[in-house]
Amino acid sequence: MLKQLNRADIDQLLATIAAEYQLQAPRRLNDGTRQLGAYKAAEVSLCGAPLQRKPTAAFFPQTGLLLTLNTDGSAKQPEAPQKPFALFGLDRFDLTAISFLDRFFSDPPADDIYLRRRQGALLVGLTGFVGIDRAFQPLSSGGCDIELIATGTGWLAAGNSETGKTLLQDFPDGDPKLLCDLQKKSLHCLPNLSKLEHAAELLRQDLVPDRFWQEIADRCILCTGCNFVCPTCSCFCVQDRQTSRGTERSRVWDSCQLDAFMREASGHNPLGTEALRTRRRIHHKLVADVVRWGELGCVGCGRCDRTCPTGIGIFAVVEELVKQFGDS
Ligand code: SF4
Ligand code: SF4
Repeated sequence: MLKQLNRADIDQLLATIAAEYQLQAPRRLNDGTRQLGAYKAAEVSLCGAPLQRKPTAAFFPQTGLLLTLNTDGSAKQPEAPQKPFALFGLDRFDLTAISFLDRFFSDPPADDIYLRRRQGALLVGLTGFVGIDRAFQPLSSGGCDIELIATGTGWLAAGNSETGKTLLQDFPDGDPKLLCDLQKKSLHCLPNLSKLEHAAELLRQDLVPDRFWQEIADRCILCTGCNFVCPTCSCFCVQDRQTSRGTERSRVWDSCQLDAFMREASGHNPLGTEALRTRRRIHHKLVADVVRWGELGCVGCGRCDRTCPTGIGIFAVVEELVKQFGDS
């Protein structure tokens, strides 16, 4: 289903969604960046820089309560959200990342804490001329209920799921040729993942020596930003906190750049050096995920490269790696 919307129609659509869902929409912060926040009609930002905070945090939050151990010895799991989530304003990379995490957390044994937040959630993509200064952003490859596409002169809305189609049913039909033109344009705007594939092959063939990882690791200041902004990172540790009600057990995002990441109670640490941990961060996305899922664990969103204060996000590392060892 393809519909045509104007700005007032978008406001109407968002208001309808907000009545049924916990709607999060992009808003512009004072420093000019944008991030998802609770929907307020006057604050919705349709164009600008990509969202730096990962939207997957709605379903896998930085600190997520697993259960409460009450003082009487009973245990209680957190309630499911009263209304399902709706995330508005997701780009192609975020939608791919959500599909990636869905598969990870649904793989047996399924993660009921994640699925409880994800269940019934509505995903709305926002693509086309919505970048900084209305730069073109590639259309999605699916994975959303509705995709709202800025055409440069107006808006198209593709309804992909039954829920999405129902929400769009009263709007006038859109022009399929315009959609087709924008899909073709998208093919020229996708990030070049060939270097990642090349680096993956070099890693698989074990052609990257330890000294490379030591050089990269020496630049890391252990801020954990690369992991905490990455929408496909799923590692967490478990922490207990005493409250007047008992003990709250939560899971908290973990970072594979930290010394304690795999350290065992005995003190043994299979990833006991920064070089090993840095190698693991890249190797996991480029090799281990491909073995397990058949595809890279990096969706190419660019967040880690924008975030890393010392310039060793995944694209920067891969660039250097291929330059040094690509002809081996
Ligand atoms: S570009 Fe960086 S942050 Fe984005 S998916 Fe790849 S590894 Fe994660
Ligand atoms: S963002 Fe950069 S400096 Fe920070 S932990 Fe990651 S690699 Fe290290």
